[in-house]
Amino acid sequence: MTHNLHLYNTLSRKKEKFVAINAPFVGMYVCGPTVYSDVHLGNCRTFMSFDLIYRYLKHLGYKVRYVRNITDAGHLEGDRDEGDDKFTKKAKLLQVEPMEIVQKYTVGFRDIMALFNTLPPSIEPTATGHIIEQQEIAKKIIENKFAYEVNGTVYFDVEKYSKTNNYGELTNRKLEDLLENTRELDGQDEKKGRLDFALWIKAKPEHLMQWPSPWGMGFPGWHIECSAMSTKYLGETFDIHGGGMDLQATHHTNEIAQNIAYCGKSPANYWMHTNMLTVNGARMSKSAGNSFLPLELFSGDHALLSKGYSPMTVRFFMMQTHYRSTLDFSDEALSGSEKAFNRLMDSYKTLQQLSASATSSENIPELKAKCYEAMDDDFNTPVLIAHLFEAVRIINSANDKKTQLTQADIDLLKTIYNDFIIDIMGLKVEEEGGKASEALEKVMQLVLDMRAKAKANKDFATSDEIRNKLTAAGIQVKDGKDGATWNL
Ligand code: AMP
Ligand code: ZN
Repeated sequence: MTHNLHLYNTLSRKKEKFVAINAPFVGMYVCGPTVYSDVHLGNCRTFMSFDLIYRYLKHLGYKVRYVRNITDAGHLEGDRDEGDDKFTKKAKLLQVEPMEIVQKYTVGFRDIMALFNTLPPSIEPTATGHIIEQQEIAKKIIENKFAYEVNGTVYFDVEKYSKTNNYGELTNRKLEDLLENTRELDGQDEKKGRLDFALWIKAKPEHLMQWPSPWGMGFPGWHIECSAMSTKYLGETFDIHGGGMDLQATHHTNEIAQNIAYCGKSPANYWMHTNMLTVNGARMSKSAGNSFLPLELFSGDHALLSKGYSPMTVRFFMMQTHYRSTLDFSDEALSGSEKAFNRLMDSYKTLQQLSASATSSENIPELKAKCYEAMDDDFNTPVLIAHLFEAVRIINSANDKKTQLTQADIDLLKTIYNDFIIDIMGLKVEEEGGKASEALEKVMQLVLDMRAKAKANKDFATSDEIRNKLTAAGIQVKDGKDGATWNL
């Protein structure tokens, strides 16, 4: 396979040329959502970034097996096996089965991913579907003497592991520093070392999701599910492992340790981490209370939004920033992205109508090469988008008859648009619905202003007639102290 793709490997802390273990096959594992609540826009950013990576690898001709798990058990509130189980807590609160919670949010997650035009992974395995595999790995780690059992809970022995391995290698931290930053054990703790983490956790009787095991009734720790499912579907060492940056320090660090303790091999050759979506500089998260749900964004129903934005505008907004940079979310930034995206897609329509000249005044093959160069440089979408706006300039200028394009140029521009915008960035021409609803918004504002004027002139016959006719058309008008509002 001849290509020049370089990607940033968290493990080596540098950009490396991508070489697949068994080309043209590529194994890619990405940590998926914990389905105890709705995904927020930050989660969506990470999954859209890996969708771009998946799409580009496929575009280059690789046959990618993309595994993205669903965490539907075993995720406690704290990273280090502390706090309540998220599923049990929610199920008790709503008085439903934990699996009803899982079903609801898994379906919701898939719906949102489809709205964002994110391709489904090749396999979407669940933690609850792989209890036996997780137990087998825990057993083997005990056998290899890197884990021990206390009262029905199995702990990974980090200090023992660190004698022969570099536990903090993924984040380049020393064991002493890690120890210093972790709370001391007290009399309550069962584990031997303060960095030790659970592979299997003994369940209290009230815990709703529990399974029999060699150590009694319990449930798996969070990290072991990914070791079990990646090994099962991609082998002991595969090409790419990904997730959000927040997973590096604990989840992925522990995953590497588990795999090495289990079979002596590090799971992935390339570790890729996406940076965070922030709001006013703070990471978007449910616990911080600053998260946006995708549906709030589409409808505009949020205090920080002036209006709704279409899924493709949001996807384009995400692509305008490199996946390894933070991206700050704001109404202004989205509004700018909307204009830019419309300009790009309008030029797509213009391109279909361009007429060819006998000679050319542009170098389109060079433009295409630059687009590949950008993507080969660790999936650099902001640079790619800058090149695409050069294409917009070329198309508009040819349309205004200021410059000339041959038929071959026009065909190549169409290939560039189809490959980079549609196929690789996963953007699509949206139904006119977005624009139509924008127009309706303006028309309704006009009608309500006219009605307010009639009222101010004490012309109640007209103002009532407007309201009655709108009601008959299925539009409800509500009078409030800040003026009238409407809804369908
Ligand atoms: P969770 O459902 O919390 O386990 O997260 C699912 C994925 O979303 C993980 O890969 C996280 O790293 C990622 N993630 C969480 N918060 C953000 C954020 N603010 N920006 C980008 N990715 C995030
Ligand atoms: Zn994981």
